[in-house]
Amino acid sequence: MCRRMSDKFSFSVSATDGRARSGVIHTPRGEIRTPAFMPVGTAATVKAMLPESVRATGADILLGNTYHLMLRPGAERIARLGGLHEFMNWPRPILTDSGGFQVMSLSSLRKLTEEGVTFSSHIDGSKHHLSPETSMEIQRLLGSDIVMAFDECPALPASEEEVAKSMRMSMRWAQRSRDAFGDRPGHALFGIMQGGVTRELREESAEALKAIGFEGYAIGGLAVGEGQEAMFGVLDYAPGFLPEDKPRYLMGVGKPDDIVGAVLRGVDMMDCVLPSRSGRTGQAWTRRGQVNIKNARHADDPRPLDADCTCPACTGYSRAYLHHVFRAGEMISGMLLTWHNLHYFQELMAGLRDAIGRGALAGFVAEFEAMRAQGDIDPL
Ligand SMILES: [Zn+2]
Repeated sequence: MCRRMSDKFSFSVSATDGRARSGVIHTPRGEIRTPAFMPVGTAATVKAMLPESVRATGADILLGNTYHLMLRPGAERIARLGGLHEFMNWPRPILTDSGGFQVMSLSSLRKLTEEGVTFSSHIDGSKHHLSPETSMEIQRLLGSDIVMAFDECPALPASEEEVAKSMRMSMRWAQRSRDAFGDRPGHALFGIMQGGVTRELREESAEALKAIGFEGYAIGGLAVGEGQEAMFGVLDYAPGFLPEDKPRYLMGVGKPDDIVGAVLRGVDMMDCVLPSRSGRTGQAWTRRGQVNIKNARHADDPRPLDADCTCPACTGYSRAYLHHVFRAGEMISGMLLTWHNLHYFQELMAGLRDAIGRGALAGFVAEFEAMRAQGDIDPL
């Protein structure tokens, strides 16, 4: 029996400009326009935002964190309550990470073996186990549309030998993830390339993943403190090792200039907590760079954060108000700045997609850089 088109997961590239691509990922829960920026909804919420507000900024897909959700409220509970989409009132696509990265960064008393990793919860100290098989099961219970293979992220700094050893175990785990994922029409499993900053290891990892076969491919192990130059150094060749007809996802990126640089190098998807986390700490991202709303220079400034931005923070409020509510610790401060930041990030993605479609990416990037070079508007 034929499956309806809408039941399938697929990706099509509609335009290219240099190595940059624009296209669409089709899923049964809706389309994802690429290059895509995915806001992070760690604990089944993008902090300070209603789901409909996240959608209003232009997001097509959210990221959820397996590690956080398995510990609280628990994957089985979310499954009983109808799955993550229903639970958090976000009917559109969701990507979940495998939990591996956050086990390494957040939990204590880890024991890592070929089988998987046993760890203690950072919340209550309770013991848990994650392996390729349990990670696939948890992500199935959550109901995520794009499931990430379970991998290991070596703690930095690491020797090339350690990176190679870790990468090869991650490739064995990638095969186990593929086997455990099973046949789930409409859902995708992405493999994750590792190999640090060594070209030969990146190529070996990509070949191993392609031999297994995935619906999409992530570039892992970057944006972990190596610096933009080293990251772009890897991105100059790594996306080229991956299949052209599958989405490429750069995990944990990033700042606006990281995003632009990654898109220029052929990346289709990214995620980062930056716009929402910055919004809660008084940092705004605008076309003219970063603005620290805590700064006393804003206290009497009746102008909006960005006169050309159409978000609620910029159309309804002054810098003076944003400064005041931050200083007063009012909740609306994080709400408005998070909305603005997510809006700016999604506008940037829309601009990149449009420019790639018109074959005008070089001009778009030149304008992006020129605006940032101007810096924030002068104080009154
Ligand atoms: Zn705004």
